[in-house]
Amino acid sequence: MEKICHFSTTNKYITWFNDDWSSVESFLNKHKLDGIELGLTLDYTIDKIPKSIVKGVHLSFFPMWLEFWNGDMNSVSELIGSEHDIIEYYGGTSKQAIVETYKKQFERAKLLEAQYMVFHVCHIRPKDSFTWQFSYSNKQVINAAIEIINEVFPQHESGPKLLFENLWWPGLTFMDGQESQLLLDGVKYNNKGFVLDISHLTLTNPKIATEQMCFNYIKKVLNNLGDIKNHIDVVHLNKTLPNHYMSQNQSYKLERYSNEANKVRKHQILMEHVNKLDPHEPFDHPLAKDIVELINPKYCVYETNPKTINELNYFIKKQNVALGMSY
Ligand SMILES: [Zn+2]
Repeated sequence: MEKICHFSTTNKYITWFNDDWSSVESFLNKHKLDGIELGLTLDYTIDKIPKSIVKGVHLSFFPMWLEFWNGDMNSVSELIGSEHDIIEYYGGTSKQAIVETYKKQFERAKLLEAQYMVFHVCHIRPKDSFTWQFSYSNKQVINAAIEIINEVFPQHESGPKLLFENLWWPGLTFMDGQESQLLLDGVKYNNKGFVLDISHLTLTNPKIATEQMCFNYIKKVLNNLGDIKNHIDVVHLNKTLPNHYMSQNQSYKLERYSNEANKVRKHQILMEHVNKLDPHEPFDHPLAKDIVELINPKYCVYETNPKTINELNYFIKKQNVALGMSY
């Protein structure tokens, strides 16, 4: 198994390393990591990036896209706003805009000779993220995702392995082996499989309060998944224990969100909520090792969201130690 960390070409990361990829390489060596899973922005010049360290490319994610994909423009206007806002969100006003974005990312992932690409299979409306009441099913989201994927990734094209990542909202959740199989069978691109995100899976059980509960739960889910388990190539390792936050009054939070007129502030309230659910912190407990061993992936990605480069160092060290590495 190779250990790698999340990295991205956003200003935050690029500034930390002064846009110097040799210092990224020494950083990885220092922490005995084998490479990165790269969140690749479309405007960054990829010639600068050393191919040898890019193991995976994380494709972008539109949290709400089903209405847009189905051409239900009244709902899209209600959710997103003016035509200008819609273009800003999707890159255009027709569903082809999403397809084009993913095609460009696919080309860049091939140029970087990545081993795999990560695609989120999920749809969520902001309000529903507070109520956990959904008017769309896992199967509906999976079927629409299959349509997009088959437009972007042609059947006989060779390229990095396309891996589908679970979330806790409607789409791929790993709660049902047959639904996961439906996705795998529906996608025509040959080179495909799954990413299992530990926090996303934990969030399908809001009662989880300890690392031990988390381990027991993941073990149970994996047993229920049957053969699907063998298609999981990558683990996104991070920790959330949702019980405390989920026992708080969510309708109060929804009210705050709904009553906020300022768009920027409204988005902040939503992101605060999502970050409380999925804080992207290291799984700093020895059970992390047991969880990863249950899955036995090819790549274990330390997927955290540090605020400073010091925190990045600290998070990686914590994760290495939890997996049994000594410094
Ligand atoms: Zn993830």
